[in-house]
Amino acid sequence: MRVLVLPGDGIGPEITEATLKVLERADAAHGLGLEIERADIGLKSLAEQGTTLPDAVLRRIPEVDGVLLGPVSHYEYPTRDKGGINPSGALRTEFKLYANIRPCRSRPDLTVLRKPMDLVIVRENTEGFYSDRNMFAGTGEFMPDPDMALSVRKVTAKACRAVARTAFELAQHRRKKVTAVHKANVVKLSDGLFLREVRKVAAEYPEVTLEELIVDATAALLIRRPDQFDVIVTTNMFGDILSDEASELSGSLGLGGSISEGDGICVAQAQHGSAPDIAGQGKANPTSLILSAAMLLDWLGRRHDDPRYLAAAKAIEAAVERALDDPGSRTADLGGPLGTDAFTARVCDALAGVVAPA
Ligand code: NAD
Repeated sequence: MRVLVLPGDGIGPEITEATLKVLERADAAHGLGLEIERADIGLKSLAEQGTTLPDAVLRRIPEVDGVLLGPVSHYEYPTRDKGGINPSGALRTEFKLYANIRPCRSRPDLTVLRKPMDLVIVRENTEGFYSDRNMFAGTGEFMPDPDMALSVRKVTAKACRAVARTAFELAQHRRKKVTAVHKANVVKLSDGLFLREVRKVAAEYPEVTLEELIVDATAALLIRRPDQFDVIVTTNMFGDILSDEASELSGSLGLGGSISEGDGICVAQAQHGSAPDIAGQGKANPTSLILSAAMLLDWLGRRHDDPRYLAAAKAIEAAVERALDDPGSRTADLGGPLGTDAFTARVCDALAGVVAPA
């Protein structure tokens, strides 16, 4: 299967190289027959082609089976008319990647939590408060005068239903509970619509319990009672913020895998940003992108009914766990001594069944 690799900015190229090494190992062990193609996006393509998202990349995406996308420094990009397009947001709207799936599990000696966390955040991915991508033309943000800025939130029944269905399908195979996170006490119409559609979908899954929780309480309960959550479904911005919180609570922003999926294509993407503060220093934790790649293999395995891909996904997850288990083989964000390459080598060794030296 063909995977298009877009390394992105900041630590993107470093963690992408690390992830490709792990994929190469998994490919050799499981006979996946992966065909990897690379293309530049972000600041590199801006310098060379005048845009952070070349048309050729957009045209190629529907022709491949999956995409591996490194984090991008879109905060640094120029305005759209000067070539600055956020590839992450643009791919989600262009290819209708309505669900962003972000699992998060605490590891006993890495977390500050007193109770275990094992949850999945399913985040609506194409609209909500994200004004750079929630309009057909123009943006949802504008300034009527120099001292006033307005932002429009967009919530549609169709997108809410789609993301709710993804959440209930996931919960069916887990602990059978969905928590719908909202702020309907304040944004009554838009989050009222979100809850209305989630409840409709919930009625089709009588074996799954639906709980509704206000977003501020959720932020607190993730710390106090993380074990009460199984699958969280929520709108775009709430899901973005809560998933960073959950990831960091589990040990580090660098730990959580993430895919954005639609009906036709899946994009694997780290949960975190491009970490410009540590870019080029060889110390980024590649776990998030490696686990995202494993989620992509799992998605491909389910979509194409291919057990090799399902097995490779599980093997990568197990290898990452094994590498993380040893405090001596962790990266700096987890208090460990290893850089990106050395940690990746441990994951590759674990994947090949080689036990790292004590
Ligand atoms: P960030 O997630 O890049 O970094 C936050 C902090 O976490 C930093 O201290 C960073 O060093 C650390 N960190 C993040 N990932 C890490 C990793 N893998 N290993 C070790 N430490 C890691 O968030 P930010 O600093 O707010 O944003 C930086 C840039 O990333 C901005 O341009 C922002 O727009 C962009 N961004 C991109 C995405 C994306 O591509 N999907 C998501 C969020 C932010």
